[in-house]
Amino acid sequence: MKLQLLPSTFDENGMASPRQHLSCFVVDDSVAIDAGSLAMAASIVQKKQIRDVVLTHAHLDHIAGLPLFIDDLFATLDVPVCVRALPEIIETLERDIFNWEIYPRFSELENAKGAVMKYQPFAVGEEFSVKHLRLKAVAVNHKVSTVGFVVSDGQTKFALSGDTAETGEFWQTLNAEENLSALLVECAFPNELEELAHVSHHLTPKTLKRELEKFNRKECSIYVVNIKPMYRDEVVRQIGELEIENLQILEVGQIYEW
Ligand SMILES: [Zn+2]
Repeated sequence: MKLQLLPSTFDENGMASPRQHLSCFVVDDSVAIDAGSLAMAASIVQKKQIRDVVLTHAHLDHIAGLPLFIDDLFATLDVPVCVRALPEIIETLERDIFNWEIYPRFSELENAKGAVMKYQPFAVGEEFSVKHLRLKAVAVNHKVSTVGFVVSDGQTKFALSGDTAETGEFWQTLNAEENLSALLVECAFPNELEELAHVSHHLTPKTLKRELEKFNRKECSIYVVNIKPMYRDEVVRQIGELEIENLQILEVGQIYEW
């Protein structure tokens, strides 16, 4: 299974920066988990193949590229882009984004071949198929309804925390999974901003360490994602100081294979 965190910002030379403003993970060039930079950074092949977008939640950094992605592809789509999310997330998207004022309500529009966007709700705890993948939605602890996922292609498996603070069910689910190759876990703020992390329901290196004590798959590779770009250097340094084996930063743009 191939996974790539799409770039979302540029360095001073106009090249993709390691800093992550937006979240969009592409699996096997064909399924997107979150859509933060989907329109802006997907490759030509990914733009041709991705017709399934699965959302952890509706915060802007996770959905910003979704309206633009559908807009870009509007005339060429021969199947609708299927957006899979919790029912309350779909409600939020229709009310606050695809409401004609912020952007067109694509779920009501058609091109010459038919619908361009459709929704497929899933429930917390549900397991469902997306193309060749099986996804399990697991509740995590964020400011709004949010899920993490366990993603399997039938051979290998990885998990993604989504945005979360201290949580329980996610770790219980992961501990019961067999053959988990990788875990992508958030760590948004440095230790000094623990209060801000607490009110916005995110982790710091210190709270991440406590969370990882609940995770009993010590052989699994663990990658940190969703570091707030302004604090990246500090968070990376503090993650290094934890001296946890198998814990590293997921590099933006790099293709990982498990
Ligand atoms: Zn969030």
